[in-house]
Amino acid sequence: MNLDFPGPQAVRKLRPGRLVIASHNPGKVREIRALLGPHGVEPVSAAELDLPEPEETGTTFVANAELKARAAADLSGLPALADDSGLCVAALNGDPGIFSARWGGEEKDFDLAMRRVEDALAAAGPDASRDAHFVCALALAWPDGHVEWFEGRVDGTLVWPPRGARGFGYDPMFVLNGMTESFGEIDPDHKHSVSHRARAFEQLVAALF
Ligand code: IMP
Repeated sequence: MNLDFPGPQAVRKLRPGRLVIASHNPGKVREIRALLGPHGVEPVSAAELDLPEPEETGTTFVANAELKARAAADLSGLPALADDSGLCVAALNGDPGIFSARWGGEEKDFDLAMRRVEDALAAAGPDASRDAHFVCALALAWPDGHVEWFEGRVDGTLVWPPRGARGFGYDPMFVLNGMTESFGEIDPDHKHSVSHRARAFEQLVAALF
């Protein structure tokens, strides 16, 4: 159980209209546009509105998603959606966790990040658990200060060496429980239907529309 997750407030519905996607990652904006477009939402990216990227100073995924969503809602005067995600490894006390992107260094080198995870697991000893999970937290903030949160999680096992080049980040070393291929090997459409992000968006769509 994630005790840091603040839990749902009374759910406020999202009305059709403009919604800021508080991300400067064009891939994420595209994916969110495809997911929410059918619900009458007109997604506008933070980059299109020239909004600055706030520093991620939170200590949980939800806190980081919320601070990004709040900053974008305050500056734009529109509802704003932000996400924060990462890989948590049981034997590493949840690392890299909220620092998942930073483990790739300035160059965002995920071969290096995966190697760091594997080295840390090796240092934890031969009996260390290889259990891991991906988390995706979503926060939707309105300009009046109201916020709704959603969180998706998928559990799996870490493999070494990394397998497949179809995903991104830590995908090549993550095998979802019940699967044999890694997230780097499976069809991206398949991954998008079973991922932590899919889980979080299912909750958001069920609650908000
Ligand atoms: P952020 O939410 O954009 O800060 O991303 C966090 C980091 O977590 C990404 O840079 C990836 O390294 C990792 N991550 C998040 N989701 C996934 C995923 O679906 N596959 C692989 N890595 C992921």
